[in-house]
Amino acid sequence: MALILANDGIDSEGKRILEDAGFRVQTDKVAQQDLADFIKQNEVVAVLVRSATQITAAELSSFGGLKVIGRAGVGLDNIDLKSAEANGVTVVNTPAASSQSVAELVLAHLFTVSRFLQLSNREMPVTGLTEFSKLKKSCSKGFELQGKTLGIIGIGRIGQALAKMALGLGMKVIAHDPFIPEVGLSLSVHLFGDVDVVLKTVSFDDVLKEADVISFHVPKPKDGAMVSDTEFAKMKHGVILINASRGGVIDEVSLLKALDSGKVAAAGLDVFENEPKPRAELLDHPRISVTPHIGASTNEAQMRVGIELAEKVIEAIR
Ligand code: NAD
Repeated sequence: MALILANDGIDSEGKRILEDAGFRVQTDKVAQQDLADFIKQNEVVAVLVRSATQITAAELSSFGGLKVIGRAGVGLDNIDLKSAEANGVTVVNTPAASSQSVAELVLAHLFTVSRFLQLSNREMPVTGLTEFSKLKKSCSKGFELQGKTLGIIGIGRIGQALAKMALGLGMKVIAHDPFIPEVGLSLSVHLFGDVDVVLKTVSFDDVLKEADVISFHVPKPKDGAMVSDTEFAKMKHGVILINASRGGVIDEVSLLKALDSGKVAAAGLDVFENEPKPRAELLDHPRISVTPHIGASTNEAQMRVGIELAEKVIEAIR
């Protein structure tokens, strides 16, 4: 039986689909430095990765029978695509499977900072018994999301999932995407069926100027951050920023400055410039809600990722 190496793990349902199709699946991790030799010695036909394992020319050229690299998730930054093409190795990924989960995490950050939960959760266990009233005062003056303007930068899969939920919350939604003039959104309202909405995109500057909350859902920019001092200057005073796309979309030093000046009231960050060693000042900042890049990390998303990946890998091998 041909071997598939799921080097960063795979959901049990995806593993079962691969095994039912006649493959052996190894989920024990092979160290990066041993990977090329392992593929060759074990005649691995497919390697499945998330973001941790790097697939370079060394792995791709190690065994002529290697047919597929499967990337669980969206980004392909950890795979040498040119070398894959040169070696006749097909690369597949699962771009849509985690959109709902990422969009829900964005809202979780937004609800968190709107009511100072990041501060309460850190401080209540420490001073909740002795300084309850003081803490209550510092966590007051929250705000409601209903009626606020959400600006979405990048209205692709995740941006659209977020737009639908925000409209459901009664937020006004505006979006910027240089490649999409408008999107049709179908909101499923429980017991009432679908409500269709058309959202026309606006300029980047219009989002910067008009939004109370700006959330980023773009690929990692090639030419430096999309948002630094110049863009912060155009935003509303007291704006909220959420980034669950890629580290580097927002310049972190500029963000800290904008938080200090009050231009940015709060931020929610799931991604960082220097993962897995993020800038320390971001992690304990009282007005930043932080998560360790877990946008796609729900049971539902991982099951969808595993199933979609397994089906695509089988199709590519046959
Ligand atoms: P997508 O390709 O469906 O959408 C991205 C959108 O960005 C596209 O519509 C594209 O036209 C637009 N875009 C490109 N350049 C732009 C620019 N300069 N300004 C505005 N819009 C621009 O991708 P997606 O699935 O929605 O993913 C969005 C981002 O989220 C990606 O960076 C992805 O890697 C990241 N992501 C993060 C997590 C996480 O765990 N936090 C999980 C999945 C995806």
